Amino acid sequence: MELIGNLLKMESELTNPVTYTLKLSNEVQLVNSWIGKTIEWNYTGTINCIHCGRKTNKSFSQGYCYPCFVSLPQTDEGVLRPELNRAHEGISRDMEWSKRNDLIDHYVYLAFTSEIKVGVTRHTQIPTRWIDQGAEFATILAKTPYRQLAGLIEVSLKSFLSDKTNWRKMLSGKVEEIPDLQASKAHFSNQIPIELQKYITPENEVTHIHYPVEKYPEKIKSVNFDNDPSFQGVLTGIKGQYLLFADGTVMNIRKHNGYFMNIKIL
Ligand SMILES: [Zn+2]
Repeated sequence: MELIGNLLKMESELTNPVTYTLKLSNEVQLVNSWIGKTIEWNYTGTINCIHCGRKTNKSFSQGYCYPCFVSLPQTDEGVLRPELNRAHEGISRDMEWSKRNDLIDHYVYLAFTSEIKVGVTRHTQIPTRWIDQGAEFATILAKTPYRQLAGLIEVSLKSFLSDKTNWRKMLSGKVEEIPDLQASKAHFSNQIPIELQKYITPENEVTHIHYPVEKYPEKIKSVNFDNDPSFQGVLTGIKGQYLLFADGTVMNIRKHNGYFMNIKIL
């Protein structure tokens, strides 16, 4: 089978294990069904902006051309750093977009990826956000009516918790001990400034996420299509937005958003 099209991050569904699909040239492929198969990847050298489609020599902020990167609301600083979001003051690159995306309920969550981390996401992005990050366990810590407040809570916990994932550790599949996120939530809730504690949610449900991985890589090396446009390998698993191959190679699909590919499933 031969597939041609621009890479876009995989869609996922919280099943046991997670179901992953990849859309290429408007056809939806079930990536789970590729596990055990040899896949040949060829990058054609063309990147198309994931927003406007124009050709770009370099991808900015995971798939955008430069003009889109400097003008779209979704690539503004207040998206990457929620505490700097100013939509609630009426300040945004596009207020209509912000009304739909910033001035809506947001969650602050605790997720176990490589260790326990804190993160912020729109209420519509759970559990997608957790799956994209490769979290094994996750729980909601707080719910706020707009983005910046969630950012303030996240920042207040950054001296105790990372907001980043060590992707090598996350892809090693080695979990030393199962984290107790309910205990962590109780503990970190007390570290949040008093005036923000009213946003802490009463529920303590922990979501356990299982990934379709037959074998984790021993020695990890990552694909970079800019340096090496071709790669062939046997797929052994999927975690987060990464494909794992038998020889230890891992491929971050999201990093190559917009790359025009020729893919052969052998
Ligand atoms: Zn563009």
